[in-house]
Amino acid sequence: METYEIFWTGGFDSTFRVVQLSRLPIRLQPVYCTGVASDIRKSEYYELQAIKQIMELLRKKPETKAEILPPKIVSTEKRQPVEKDPDFVYEILPHDHDVATAFRRIYISMMAPRRSQLATGRGVLNAVNVDLYIDSQYQWLAAYANSRKDPVEIGITARYVNKFMDAIGGGDAVEEIDRGCVKQYILNIEKCRSADGYTIFGNFAFSFYNAPLKPELIEEYRKMDCEDIMNLTWFCYDPIDGKPCGQCWTCVHTYRDGITNRFTPEALERYFKREKELAENK
Ligand SMILES: [Zn+2]
Repeated sequence: METYEIFWTGGFDSTFRVVQLSRLPIRLQPVYCTGVASDIRKSEYYELQAIKQIMELLRKKPETKAEILPPKIVSTEKRQPVEKDPDFVYEILPHDHDVATAFRRIYISMMAPRRSQLATGRGVLNAVNVDLYIDSQYQWLAAYANSRKDPVEIGITARYVNKFMDAIGGGDAVEEIDRGCVKQYILNIEKCRSADGYTIFGNFAFSFYNAPLKPELIEEYRKMDCEDIMNLTWFCYDPIDGKPCGQCWTCVHTYRDGITNRFTPEALERYFKREKELAENK
């Protein structure tokens, strides 16, 4: 049986794809990159809890056909998790100089023309405009993917795939491949005009190229009878008292995308305040 690897954050988009793949007769290896950035994400604990709970539910669902391997937690040598959980397996991410250099150039080229849009009135980075740049986690995901023989699937929506392909001029270089039970989209090296772009995105397999956006995903979760799983996904980067904050960029996008039932009244208050601030800073 072939093993398919997929990056899984426990979030809305990647969980959707994990559920889809869980229904195929394949071996599935979820991969979670942790503790890799200098600003270790406060949300990691909650993401890993979501993954554990969703794994448990998936294993019980009669529709699950895949052999789902224990999720693999990947970290750099310097930032290894202090405590290891028996539900996960652990691996060290090798340093990849080519990826680091290519990432820096792409990051700068995406940021530079939009500096004014990204700065708020106080001159700080306006992370809610995340659609305008590439998140630092992609550097680590690319380093992991490039260390593997087969492409690693990344369950992001078409909005993000299109944004990245625009940035590297790779829109017409994306091609569908058939890997037995699974159809994926990868970058064709011959057609990809950006060497840096290929270094970062060349060993990712996209599942959502020209496919579902958030409202359609919500509907698809329902059709798969997996609202229980959808409600366990984690999206907030900066939780307050263990609950989604309502004001970080993923909370803002989640609400804007129509997922409005996951916020406490306090978080909703923060959300509307944040939107007001954003409108004033335009
Ligand atoms: Zn949040």
